[in-house]
Amino acid sequence: MHYPELFEPLNLGFTTLKNRSLMGSMHTGLEEAKNGTKRLAAYYEARARGGVGLIVTGGISPNLAGRVAPFSCQLSHSWQVKHHRPITDAVHRGGGKICMQILHSGRYGYHPLLVSASRLKSPITPFTPWALTSRGVEKTINDYVNCAYLAQKSGYDGVEVMGSEGYLINQFIVAKTNKRTDKWGGEYRNRIQFPIEIVRRIREKVGPRFIIIYRLSMLDLVEGGSNWEEVVMLAKEIEKAGATIINTGIGWHEARIPTIATMVPRGGFSWVTKKLKSEVSIPLITTNRINTPEVANQIIKEGHADMVSMARPMLADPDFMNKAKLGKGHEINTCIGCNQACLDHVFKNKVASCLVNPYACFETELKTKKNILPKRVAIVGAGPSGISCAIEAAKIGHEVHLYERNSEIGGQFNLAKIIPGKEEFHETIRYFDVMLKKYGVHQHLNTEVDVQMIRDEKFDEVIISAGIRPRKLDLDGAELPHVFDYMTALKHPEKIGSRVAIIGAGGIGFDVAESLLHKNKTTITVQQFLKEWSIDGENNNRGGLLTHESETLTPDREITLMQRKETKLGAGLGKTTGWIHRLSLKKSGVQMLSGVEYQKISESGLHIKHKGEEKVIEADSIIVCAGQLSNSDLFAKLEALGHKNIHLIGGAKLALEIDAKKAIREGVKVALSL
Ligand code: NAP
Ligand code: SF4
Repeated sequence: MHYPELFEPLNLGFTTLKNRSLMGSMHTGLEEAKNGTKRLAAYYEARARGGVGLIVTGGISPNLAGRVAPFSCQLSHSWQVKHHRPITDAVHRGGGKICMQILHSGRYGYHPLLVSASRLKSPITPFTPWALTSRGVEKTINDYVNCAYLAQKSGYDGVEVMGSEGYLINQFIVAKTNKRTDKWGGEYRNRIQFPIEIVRRIREKVGPRFIIIYRLSMLDLVEGGSNWEEVVMLAKEIEKAGATIINTGIGWHEARIPTIATMVPRGGFSWVTKKLKSEVSIPLITTNRINTPEVANQIIKEGHADMVSMARPMLADPDFMNKAKLGKGHEINTCIGCNQACLDHVFKNKVASCLVNPYACFETELKTKKNILPKRVAIVGAGPSGISCAIEAAKIGHEVHLYERNSEIGGQFNLAKIIPGKEEFHETIRYFDVMLKKYGVHQHLNTEVDVQMIRDEKFDEVIISAGIRPRKLDLDGAELPHVFDYMTALKHPEKIGSRVAIIGAGGIGFDVAESLLHKNKTTITVQQFLKEWSIDGENNNRGGLLTHESETLTPDREITLMQRKETKLGAGLGKTTGWIHRLSLKKSGVQMLSGVEYQKISESGLHIKHKGEEKVIEADSIIVCAGQLSNSDLFAKLEALGHKNIHLIGGAKLALEIDAKKAIREGVKVALSL
């Protein structure tokens, strides 16, 4: 059997999970969307059919004050049960099991009615919470119990009580957010009564044959957070109170340490769960950056946990577990940890999806066609948009010819995979390669396509996905030999000197800076990561934080990153990852200048005007990261000749703000429209 430890059933006494995988909780935005129930049912059913052992829904509030935002989902009334039934029925029909997460946001709520243990504003929300009265605390506990009871009535197999990431329960547990003087405040034993009572009273209400998962913050990553002794004490009490399983929570949302971004090493926090293994007898789930069956299996085999939680990997590939079981791990569409279409969407109040899998959360909207008339299709350019289009078109039965002028597929992903911390892009290229072969796409590498060839071959449909080229600078000295475009700088770092000026501070300017900082940076180990971000690998200190300054590698190059806009550099980067990129460069001493006027380039460097002052940024190499222009010439020529059935997609269509998410989605949509 493949991955035997991962596929060993887990007997919970009154029910058995078919394997050790959990699809962790993730809000999708469908919870509040029009037609959301139907779409959520399809989304979860696909994952249940894909073989996951247990699913946990996105967070549902037990009352009005606990909502994350004014219109977020809540389960407090029996009439709401009917909105959940289609979801639980769909999962059970698909052979799966599902728990509903109960999440009270406390002071993290984004509305004026929010409450917390004390009247203390969080650093990441604009509203100050009201402190719950003693009666308010009792009522809130009852609301949790009522919510769990209604979840049981809705057909859920259990609930997960969200006790981590800095939400209400955490706010009660930790002294710095709980200044109460009644029985719910004071010493640690008192402060943990809130979650203990929630679990105890839920168990009393729902009976013994209902899963209760408690998500316990094992590593707060905030100053004044719990210490390890306290974590153990809470875990033991939660077990006594009647929880079936304990899940791991890592880091409060206000912590300024990456916990799930792609630069966190795979399985980088499972050691925390392992520490708790010998302290309790109920099963433990571990989590964060587990994205392949190999890593998941290894974690269980090494006794770090009894189950592994994978939320985003199940978004990226609903059939993750079935493919693993059949030994087809190479066919898994791997989550690259980018957050670009999942968490970043949720933070912008958009429905979540997945950069590498646009079907995620759009199962009822993007439908694969059946019974099509097979066509001969040419796709020019094997970057993310062209490849996605080729795979989907071939999957539904078209004869697809994919042309690429370079010797390898992948386009811009071949650059991304070079960036330290973005090694996961290798996985997408591997997946693309496997799928192109699986569906019999005819690949023509090292092939330049021209108008004549398209006309001679008489294709039924032609898709131009020829990508982009870097924008050149219109500046005196731009043609000097020490001026490089970003593609050259990334592919040939040996050509770049030790004092570097980077023109343009979009995603690529940041990536280039990151990749040039250290000459021989290899994939980071867990120990290096912990050191770099001041995490106490022994978890003895409060909050799991080291008390001394973080250790950063001394940079090999002196870098200045610039833009013309007056705004903060990196303001346009993803909400959930931009701050990490900014912090990472800052820690390595990269100088960041906004409001720059470029004047000329000379032998000695880049001449600029900054804050009214003319100066020279002395540099051996100047790298231009000033955006891109579309490669749309072939399309324009074909169009001018009156060629029918031609389509322009990806960066070739719109170079401005090219992004892989849009490119892949466009490729799939065009394929479905053929
Ligand atoms: P971008 O985000 O549009 O940034 C281009 C940069 O060049 C800006 O800083 C812009 O700032 C500057 N610029 C534009 N025209 C210029 C000119 N004529 N002369 C000098 N400077 C000029 O583009 P990108 O960095 O190439 O990234 C492309 C896309 O890749 C992004 O939109 C993003 O979706 C994706 N990406 C994202 C990430 C990430 O999120 N981590 C990483 C890599 C790529 P000023 O106009 O203010 O000077
Ligand atoms: Fe993973 Fe990125 Fe997809 Fe989110 S958008 S599930 S992080 S690949």
